[in-house]
Amino acid sequence: MPAGRYAPSPSGDLHFGNLRTAVLAWLFARQTDRACYLRVEDIDSERSSMESAARQISDLEALGLNFDPPVTYQSDNDERYRAALGKLDVYECYCTRRDIREAASAPHAQPGMYPGTCRDLTEAQRKAKRAELAEQGRMPALRLRAGCAEWSVRDFYAGEVVGAVDDVILRRGGNLNQAQAGDWAYNLAVVVDDGEQGIDQVVRGDDLMFSAPAQAYLAHLLGYAQPEYVHVPLVVNSEGRRLAKRDGAVTLREMLREKEIAEVVGQIAVSIGCPGVESVDGLLTDFDPGALPREPWVWSG
Ligand code: GLU
Repeated sequence: MPAGRYAPSPSGDLHFGNLRTAVLAWLFARQTDRACYLRVEDIDSERSSMESAARQISDLEALGLNFDPPVTYQSDNDERYRAALGKLDVYECYCTRRDIREAASAPHAQPGMYPGTCRDLTEAQRKAKRAELAEQGRMPALRLRAGCAEWSVRDFYAGEVVGAVDDVILRRGGNLNQAQAGDWAYNLAVVVDDGEQGIDQVVRGDDLMFSAPAQAYLAHLLGYAQPEYVHVPLVVNSEGRRLAKRDGAVTLREMLREKEIAEVVGQIAVSIGCPGVESVDGLLTDFDPGALPREPWVWSG
């Protein structure tokens, strides 16, 4: 069955912008008779917590969103990611974030793209780098040896988008002292889970548009069908920056201290071009993807 999903990272309560994206992901899936899954993206072991996941799930339920069971957790999918990694051409990367920042600021470097520092090292160089890292208690990260520089995706709003592909991180560096392998990287986990869950429609914030070409390329390498993307504009604060917790009472729990749930849904409805609707079921009938504002939505409290 075709399916969409909402895939939050459980590192804090969902705010108005997250809730709006969740509602949009649910509407796009349900209006097109897709299953709609909730996937907890808890691969970042330092920032994620089960408590946060539980709070997010109950907030989404409070909005009236129903997801198809089961709720899945990326932390359960270690085997799946390991198997995918085994199918890919990868290399060890010894760079620190700082190395990458510095290399990326060199003339002609493409901003945000890995400059390929560790791609073509000789075995002797790798051995030396590995030893250097081991002295610091670190284990190397793993990167994809990408076989192309760009890839094309289809986005519901943006149309055909051709974007750069770099040697994305697949597994983060680990901690040697704690004999702990690094976390799986977002790009690998998201592609493998979307592929394994049969997700053919990916609705999410347009801050992730830039990562879609590399993800679609990775999906292609792993033999998964390429999903259709629906990148939706973000909610921003009055200064035009992405909405954040410090922007006031922006989480559902904070909002519910002052208003009823119907009013919160009503605010989301206004922001997606459906004024006057106060339930997600009402939105299911009334939401018109063509009426979604294409500009960032400015949060006004
Ligand atoms: N877990 C990601 C986030 O919360 C979303 C990933 C995705 O939808 O592809 O930002």
